[in-house]
Amino acid sequence: MNKLKIGNFPTPVYKIDSLSDYYGTNIYIKRDDFSGLEVSGNKIRKLEYLVYDAIDKECDVLITSGAVQSNHARATAVVSAMYGLDCYLVLEGEEKEFEGNLFLDEAFGAKIIFTNNVKDSIEELEDKLYDIGKKPYIIPMGGSNYIGSKGYFNQYKEILSYENENNIKFDTITLAIGSAGTYAGIYHANEKLSAGKKQIYGISVNNSEEFFIKKVREILKDSKDEIDTSKIYINDKFIGPGYAKYRKEDIEFYLNIARKTGILFDPCYTGKAFEGFISNIENKFDKRDNHLFIHTGGIFGWTKEMREMAKEIVREK
Ligand SMILES: *Cc1c(COP(=O)(O)O)cnc(C)c1O
Repeated sequence: MNKLKIGNFPTPVYKIDSLSDYYGTNIYIKRDDFSGLEVSGNKIRKLEYLVYDAIDKECDVLITSGAVQSNHARATAVVSAMYGLDCYLVLEGEEKEFEGNLFLDEAFGAKIIFTNNVKDSIEELEDKLYDIGKKPYIIPMGGSNYIGSKGYFNQYKEILSYENENNIKFDTITLAIGSAGTYAGIYHANEKLSAGKKQIYGISVNNSEEFFIKKVREILKDSKDEIDTSKIYINDKFIGPGYAKYRKEDIEFYLNIARKTGILFDPCYTGKAFEGFISNIENKFDKRDNHLFIHTGGIFGWTKEMREMAKEIVREK
């Protein structure tokens, strides 16, 4: 297989009894946050393919980009250290706190470039590296291109195995969408392996429905398969005040879910996606169906700012 083997796969699926009883339906969660320790979350599945490709092309430096607290950037830093590759992370914005993913990036030896213009900074860096005889490999933001999406095509096969072993069928799958590689891989596999029978819902944490429909189609253009892309469901109503921004009631919701389930979602991706998922459970989905939510990780998204808000809520009670 043309991929590295890094993550702990397959990740487990659990039925969440407390929420299933409460909402009168069948709620399951696939714990992709269990994919590993420092590399936990969805990005490792994409990196297994992307970094294989980089090594295959004899590249010796990985360059990628993202927000200052990017989970993808951190996972790239870890994998670089594992395979003895140099790693440059071009992060949009400036350092606020040396914590969470940023701390991990540097702990694993990645070099950080803070910028307001990611594209220009990457080009400049690429030129510099070529000048000193290095061979850089550029991984797009979030690892979201067709190669990266294969990690989630493969993840879908784990879902099918779970169904077979447990004699159950999922009718819907819901996940957070931030750069669309995860969604694209699952959508592709559902079309190819299940004749599009499941409904795949992406809950956006940053961009519009139109933006993501276009992005998913773009990613899947590189596939040799003929893929019907007319059933891409994106909901952009749960972004709240913006990417990595939150309201007190959102944080309260994540803490409530944590107390009911033993699962703490992150405030940046999975928390918002789970709000969208529960809203669909209440207003849209058929209660007789089986509903699967993908926990894509992101625990380091609990930055100091978010933890302070959580502290107020917790101590208030
Ligand atoms: C990146 C990320 C996502 C979004 O996945 P995309 O493939 O970028 O759409 C969801 N959850 C977490 C925790 C992430 O880090």
